[in-house]
Amino acid sequence: MNNDVMIMVRYGELSTKGKNKKDFIDCLARNIKRMLIKYDSLTYEVKRDHIYIHLNDENLNEVSSVLQNVSGLSSFSYVYRIDNNLEKMKEFALNLLLKENKKTFKIRAKRVDKTFPMVSDEINRHIAGYILSHSDYKVDVHNPDVLVSLTIREDFTYIYTNDIQGLGGYPLGMQGKAMMMLSGGIDSPVACYKMLRRGIQIECIHFAAPPYTSEAVITKIKDILKVLSFYQGKIILHIIPFTKLQEEIYRYAGPSYAITIMRRMMYRISERLANKRKCLVIGNGESIGQVASQTMVSINRIESVCSLPVIRPLSVLDKVEIIDIAKKIHTYDISIRPYEDCCTIFEPRNVTTAPHMDKIEQIESAFDYETLVNECVENKETIVISEEEDSSFF
Ligand code: ATP
Ligand code: MG
Repeated sequence: MNNDVMIMVRYGELSTKGKNKKDFIDCLARNIKRMLIKYDSLTYEVKRDHIYIHLNDENLNEVSSVLQNVSGLSSFSYVYRIDNNLEKMKEFALNLLLKENKKTFKIRAKRVDKTFPMVSDEINRHIAGYILSHSDYKVDVHNPDVLVSLTIREDFTYIYTNDIQGLGGYPLGMQGKAMMMLSGGIDSPVACYKMLRRGIQIECIHFAAPPYTSEAVITKIKDILKVLSFYQGKIILHIIPFTKLQEEIYRYAGPSYAITIMRRMMYRISERLANKRKCLVIGNGESIGQVASQTMVSINRIESVCSLPVIRPLSVLDKVEIIDIAKKIHTYDISIRPYEDCCTIFEPRNVTTAPHMDKIEQIESAFDYETLVNECVENKETIVISEEEDSSFF
């Protein structure tokens, strides 16, 4: 049955027309080919309405599981090519349904070749009648378990059943780049994934505070990025030496304001790097109300240091929803490895959930953070992570 099978890919949120539509399709086709690069017998036909992938000798299930992770792809179907012969159509439709092992069906034939001697309705009735008498399937025209579609063209008939869902959204690279703040926790990898599936390319920034944080955290971050690089190919990671600035923050801010000031510094550094690296937005894994620094008041006071937009894909998700996604994308097990985050090492007590602007300004005017912020940016270490390996960048 696999001999003449191909995959028909439908586009995601393709509401645009003209040049934008062409860019969307080109970008999606490029990403599909990149993600399927190791299946080198595949051949592609890129059309206005669909992309057809000819399997040749490649494994259908493996190719299918990669396609389910391509952003910008709304759904796809396995399409079988058979002769324009009613007997063949009946038999093939029956076989497809028996393989699905469901209860109800509907036949939807479309006659592109108007010389075919029956109209669509007649074809539908003939095939449905055959299936009813050769199986336990029942017809359900409104909500069938399996919809069998047939398109009769001049040369062949193309037959396929239900769609397999893709990720939707936009192809990666359509929307420009984001600088993502990546800790070793559960949330930020999920935030990165959400951006990627929306077609946003990412670079990551991580604040490391050795010796308070260990090299194991960096290994963890790299492992997370290896998982995420499946969606993007290579991901650039900037590691910021944060220790000196953090010690100063703690000295001047005291326990209840340390986190607020620290996060303002993180945003300042992220923004500088975002501008340098031509990122249009900053992103992170904050979720409203999750911790003291993520109350609405805190977010308001912290984000005010930035002029770039800050995107928080998880802002309104519950922790359980975030964990479900982390498990689905295989970052959860890496994220829960024990580690010390630079947010937790100084054990801030009585962390304020509603920081006052006056107090923030008073703390920040007491020390020369600008120099330290510049040092952080200048002394960053940049590496490139890909699925197989990581390597130094600059
Ligand atoms: P995560 O949110 O990733 O599970 P977390 O809960 O330990 O980690 P929070 O304290 O909730 O982190 O911080 C909120 C967000 O700030 C994180 O999602 C991440 O985007 C960013 N962030 C926190 N710590 C760091 C860090 N050391 N380096 C880079 N970004 C960080
Ligand atoms: Mg968090």
